[in-house]
This record gives sequence, structure tokens and C-alpha cells, in this order.
Amino acid sequence: MFDLIFVLVPILAIGVFAFVIGMMFVPSLRSKFMGHQLRMQKRMLEDNKDVMTDIGKITGEIGVKTAKGVIDENEDDIRHVVSKSADMSKDAITTTTRAIKKGLTEEESDVYCKHCGASIDSDSTFCKACGRKQ
Ligand SMILES: [Zn+2]
Repeated sequence: MFDLIFVLVPILAIGVFAFVIGMMFVPSLRSKFMGHQLRMQKRMLEDNKDVMTDIGKITGEIGVKTAKGVIDENEDDIRHVVSKSADMSKDAITTTTRAIKKGLTEEESDVYCKHCGASIDSDSTFCKACGRKQ
């Protein structure tokens, strides 16, 4: 029994090794093998075309049903999340708008430099334009 294993395993290993080397270094062998594999797959697909089509259809239907089921089951949560994010973006827009408006109004403050007359921030100690103290 053991003797047989000691003979079979090396033969198998040598066979696999020879096959791999052959595939790596003999292009014609490789293309022959690949062609054979392709033909086998093609034949298999042709033989089971109807089954494969059915499997594809069923899988697609399951996917659609699952997605629909998930939406149906969580409709309230989804609606909540959607309206929440809508509120969030609304808030973000409001905040941004306020900031822009504030920036614009601050830019056009009615405080001017005593020396050169440039528009300056009401709380600034020095003029941005001429650098003199207010
Ligand atoms: Zn100035």
C-alpha cells in the first residue's frame, strides 16, 4: 500500500511538472490546450443553454425581488433618511449662504481709513492699504 503511494505520488508530481513546463515553454501545446478548454466550455454552455438562461433569469429576478423587498420593508426608514439628508443639505446651504452674505457685507463695511480712505474692517487697528494706525 505504502509502496504504491511512493510510486504514484512522484509520477503524478512529475506529470504535473511536465505539464506546467510544457504549458510555459511550448506555445503550440499551450494554444492546443487552451483551444481544447475553450471548445469544452463552449460545448458545455451550448448543451446547457436553456438551464443557464433560466439560472440567469431566476438570479436576476431574485435580485430585483430582494431589492424591492428591502425597499418595501424599510420604506419608512428610507424616507426618513432621505428627508433627513435633504434637511441636512438645506441647512448646509443656509449656513453657506449666510457665511457668504456675512463675508460680502463685512467686505463692504462703512469704516474707512483715516489716512487713505480705503475700506477697512471696523475692528482693525491698522489699514490694509496704507498700513497706518487708525
Ligand atoms: Zn489707509
